Amino acid sequence: MPTYEYECKACGHRFEASHSMSAAPLKTCPECRKDKVVRLIGSGSGLIFKGSGFYATDYRKGGAPPCPSAGSKPSCSGCPGTQH
Ligand SMILES: [Zn+2]
Repeated sequence: MPTYEYECKACGHRFEASHSMSAAPLKTCPECRKDKVVRLIGSGSGLIFKGSGFYATDYRKGGAPPCPSAGSKPSCSGCPGTQH
């Protein structure tokens, strides 16, 4: 009896199930009871991304941006670096 790996797309629950090849693959998640279970082809591929937000904060590492009106508006007020 082969063992298959499943993952629920609704709650992320992963589990293994053994059934014959002729049996229909599972559909219902044992955790959340939703029919969002898919059978994984192979395991440990590392192709499944969980969540996002890897890039959202990278561009801020340069510190605060310069005053957008520095150099063009001599009367710029409220910008710490452009006091006259
Ligand atoms: Zn689930």
